[in-house]
This record gives sequence, structure tokens and C-alpha cells, in this order.
Amino acid sequence: MQPQCRAGPAHWHEDFPIANGEYQSPIDIDTTSAQYDSSLKPLHFNYDPSTARNIVNNGHSFNVEFDDSSDKSVLRGGALTGTYRLIQFHIHWGSCEGQGSEHTVDGKQYDAEVHLVHWNTKYGKFGEAVKHPDGLCVVGVFLQVGSARPGIQKVIDALDSIQTKGKQASFTNFDPMKLLPSSLDYWTYQGSLTTPPLLECVIWHVLREPVHVSPEQLCKLRGLCFSTENETPYYMMDNWRPCQPLKSREVRASFQ
Ligand SMILES: [Zn+2]
Repeated sequence: MQPQCRAGPAHWHEDFPIANGEYQSPIDIDTTSAQYDSSLKPLHFNYDPSTARNIVNNGHSFNVEFDDSSDKSVLRGGALTGTYRLIQFHIHWGSCEGQGSEHTVDGKQYDAEVHLVHWNTKYGKFGEAVKHPDGLCVVGVFLQVGSARPGIQKVIDALDSIQTKGKQASFTNFDPMKLLPSSLDYWTYQGSLTTPPLLECVIWHVLREPVHVSPEQLCKLRGLCFSTENETPYYMMDNWRPCQPLKSREVRASFQ
């Protein structure tokens, strides 16, 4: 959900007709109908911590941005052909535990979901890649409340400096591998951005295994604001879009 669009996701189609399109995200992943596909390859992450640049409050989440001017931090394999460069990651979360993720698994919603956004280098730049069905690869990682995850604490600690919309801070030397679970088993399907302009340009890879974060770590996310410094504080939470119809798509699994 994106409260700064007063009308919310149910009204996005008024300005973005593609909201009712054939390839919209997120979706509920029905594990019994997701077919194992032996042709799917393992995901090969190759991240260079030195490409981390900034952390930004953009008014609907926060982005950790990476230098994508070279092939230093890339993703290959999976359902992909070619090389995809990491440009940013962000998180969707809820107002309370039991909601917050965008994708759901057999109807279960996790507490939050990380999105690692990569673009297909064959298109030269992000802005061109989003015009193509194979333009982006977003890797989704579910977060579940449990024990603390030390690897994410650097991100959590940086939030104090970007509490309100428009704030930005330097964020360097971070390896996004710290956000990934030990198993890289995934489901994959063809979908879209989950915020306007909702372009249908994403080969989604949603990891099966969630990672744990502590209640305190999750709670810190809810201290961010949708609002700017000069506005009445409007705390950032429930920045997730509800599941969209699968329509004629298939979800494939990398595992049996
Ligand atoms: Zn997202």
C-alpha cells in the first residue's frame, strides 16, 4: 500500500490502467501448483560491498542504492539469460506482525519482504530495461520475526538519519548477501513493479526460506515516516500491495 497516494492501491488503475494487467505483482504462491522445472539454474549472486552508495527515504520505503555503472555487483542464473546489475534494495513491512510481505505463500503473509532490484545489462540502463518483460530481476526475501539478524543491523542503524521523506545519507561497504537465507531455492514467475507505474518488466525470484529478524529490528522500520520533515509525522508501515490475480501465468519452482 502507498498511503501518499490518498486513494491507495485499489485506485491505482485510475492513473495506471496496467494495474489490472495480465502480469501484475505481487501474487499468492500456491505451492501445490508451482511446478518444479529442472531447467532452472541456481541463482549466482556476485556482490561487491564497495558498490553500496546511499540510503534514501523516498516516501514509500527506503532504498539502499548501489553504483550500477559497472558489473561489480551482479546476478546471473535462475530463470535469467545474461547479466543483471544490482541497483537498489528496499523493504515492505506491516503495522504489526503477521502482515507486511507482498508475496504470500499458500495464503500466508510474512512480516516483511526485502526486494533486491537488478536490471538487465543488455538494455544499457535501468530506464530502458523497464520497457521490456525481461528488463528487471527482483529477488524477494521474506522476513519473519524471531532471533535478531546481525547482518541487517547496519541497515537498521542507518534509519535514524533518514527518518523523513527526502532524506538521504551515505551508506557504504555493505554486502547484500547478508540479507539472504542459507538456501537459495526459489519460485519464479513473470510480473511487475508493485508500486506505480506498475510496469510489467520483472522476472521475479522469490526465495522459499525466510530470514529471521528480531521484533526490535522490525520495529525500527516503523519509526520511519511517509511524511516530510515539515509535515505532521505519518509513520511508515503497511507499504505493501495486496496480491494480484495470477491469470494465465505459471509459477515455477527451482526445487522438488
Ligand atoms: Zn518492492
